[in-house]
Amino acid sequence: MARLSKGFRGGNSAIVTGQIVHVALDLPLAKPFDFHGADVTADDIGRLAIVPFGSRKLTGVIVGISDKTEVPLDKLKHLLLVQRELPKFSVRDFALFRFCESYYHYPFGPIALNSLPPAMRQPKPIRLRQQRIFEITDSGHAALLALSARAVAQRTMLSSLSTAPQTEAHLKRRHDRAASVLAALLKKGLVAISGPANRAEPPPRRLITIVPGPSPSDEQRIAIERISAASGTFTPFLLFGVTASGKTEVYLQVVAGALANGRQALVLVPEINLTPQFLRQVQQRFPDSHIALQNSAMADVPRMQGYLAAQSGQADIVVGTRLAVFTPMPKLGVIVIDEEHDASFKQQEGFRYSARDVAVFRAQQESCVVVMGSATPSLESLHNVARGRFTQIALTKRAAASAVLPAIKFIDLNHERTEDGLSVTMVKAIEDTVRRGEQALVFINRRGFSPALVCAQCGAMPECKRCSARLVFHQKERRLKCHHCGYQSRVPNACAACGSHEMIAAGHGTERIEIALRNKLPTARIARVDRDSTRKRGAAEKIFDAAAAGEIDVLVGTQMLSKGHDFPKITLVGVVNADGAMFSADFRAAERMVAQLCQVAGRAGRADLPGRVLIQTRFAAHPLYQAVAAQDHASFATMAMAERKSANLPPYSFLALLRAEAKSADALNTFMTSAVEAANAARITHAELAGAANASLHVWDPIPAPLSRKAGFERQQLMVQANSRGALQQFLAIWLPQVSQSRTVKWLIDVDPLEV
Ligand SMILES: [Zn+2]
Ligand SMILES: [Zn+2]
Repeated sequence: MARLSKGFRGGNSAIVTGQIVHVALDLPLAKPFDFHGADVTADDIGRLAIVPFGSRKLTGVIVGISDKTEVPLDKLKHLLLVQRELPKFSVRDFALFRFCESYYHYPFGPIALNSLPPAMRQPKPIRLRQQRIFEITDSGHAALLALSARAVAQRTMLSSLSTAPQTEAHLKRRHDRAASVLAALLKKGLVAISGPANRAEPPPRRLITIVPGPSPSDEQRIAIERISAASGTFTPFLLFGVTASGKTEVYLQVVAGALANGRQALVLVPEINLTPQFLRQVQQRFPDSHIALQNSAMADVPRMQGYLAAQSGQADIVVGTRLAVFTPMPKLGVIVIDEEHDASFKQQEGFRYSARDVAVFRAQQESCVVVMGSATPSLESLHNVARGRFTQIALTKRAAASAVLPAIKFIDLNHERTEDGLSVTMVKAIEDTVRRGEQALVFINRRGFSPALVCAQCGAMPECKRCSARLVFHQKERRLKCHHCGYQSRVPNACAACGSHEMIAAGHGTERIEIALRNKLPTARIARVDRDSTRKRGAAEKIFDAAAAGEIDVLVGTQMLSKGHDFPKITLVGVVNADGAMFSADFRAAERMVAQLCQVAGRAGRADLPGRVLIQTRFAAHPLYQAVAAQDHASFATMAMAERKSANLPPYSFLALLRAEAKSADALNTFMTSAVEAANAARITHAELAGAANASLHVWDPIPAPLSRKAGFERQQLMVQANSRGALQQFLAIWLPQVSQSRTVKWLIDVDPLEV
């Protein structure tokens, strides 16, 4: 291999050198890194590789090979290993990452590498065990009819192999003691091993049993028919269905259609805690299908197995949270997004993608149907319906014939006093519900005991030293906690400002409401559901199972309670304090509040018992609460849409937010000033390119972030607003490369920000 003398600076000149491998790494840099790699071939593009990086080893993705590099050859290191045991990214996967790279202005390397399960990103050689495939032999077919009735395990195994050969892993998941049963059948010659599964080839098509569901209502039937008719084409559907209208049944039937056509289905749910519940429904309906779960709380090995099964086409259904949108699926036939409006589909750090929007792109790429369901669709999706990009299907009635929407009433806190945050009317209603043997759900969107400790003498409130936020009092642990950075301290004996010992817990959180209810209703079985009480793996599931089994009378909790769960015996939903949203500066606060209250109210009266909802508020007459009471999301949306239009806010304009933070306020100010200068220069270039379209582009002044200091970092943001997506994208492409890279200021761009 040609070597160049020391001291040569390559600059931009291309040098013919032999084999150079270009590897994208999980680093915030747009360009791939170059390495020597003599044995790497074009077939390795898309594979993972381990490379030396300083004193470390890193996993990267091979994105190309050539004979050119801008790095002096003697500085170039050798690639250490290509992970040839692992399947590689396909051309389609690369296209998906490239789309994200250009749309979100985020580098390819981190997008590609973070789409992988953590176990696959480890910089060490990964060996996969060879998968054996079992098939039934002729004597196996004969034996299936003749085997004694007592040989239940062997018969079930043979009968599931009688339709198609299957992998050992799949059989092990479906059958108890699969290893010993298969060994016995092998010995008798009733089954044979047809060789290791070839991961590159799609597995033989199996027939999947579909257990029939309840017969659909007229509205459900029409929805299923319309969606099925579009199968095999890129058609985005918005399934706008009131709570308990049976959206899940529509999803299941649509998934059944895809499976019957030999395709795979991807189902995205908004919260990890909803995956087991949905999984159970899917398992009941498709008992011998291969379902892969994908979420961030999973252990390494099952996560990787699920990913590989999806990628090889073995898994029929992938159920997961937002990260599952990147799971490679060669036979993808349908994507379902439950609660499409939910904020959890937007990643709120680093690569700030929207899984819903990426899913729509993916459906387009795969020419498949995408079904987005919600009782309270986002204004963006409703706008897409209005523009003819999405097709809306409505479910206006609750699925159970006897179930009606709950009655919503307000408790006016201007006229009724509260004790420990609960009014007499609320406590009485909960008590009556429990006495009837029904269940109540009490919703308060704040965890901990109280959001602040206040000194009774001087009014001082302990604040986080690292954030511009008060510390939340957690009584059970006797600690003050910052909910933004995780800082904790013991509860002080005296006020730090004046030394007084009189510290009062002000305001209410889940812990305080739970304790108050335990005092007021000593015989009721009460459980709390929030991030504190469900920290352990499986803890949330345990509480939800107990509630479903009727072992809990009252559930107290945060928004974790508001999504998806279906408890037929909940007849009362109490909302303790939702007024916070009234004072938010975020233009989406109203939309979020209405969606959340509608979701939580939707938990009441889902089966044959009528439900009611009580909301404690000081602003019962406010149009937002009136919209909630009317339970007419469409008319709220019309009103909100008109406001957005007149203010030129999304979905009528397109936003990008530059979010920056630094330890030093001076460094941050200097950075923001230079970012604004770069933006002004970029506007001029953009105007020359875009002409009149540029007039609709606006760069706002930098402002402090809503939480202006977090974990010791000062934070500011700068908003860019444009009337077309194209103009915004063009502008960002000109501006961002000019924004200075600095060691002291961390910044990123948030395209389509949800929180502003
Ligand atoms: Zn004080
Ligand atoms: Zn903090």
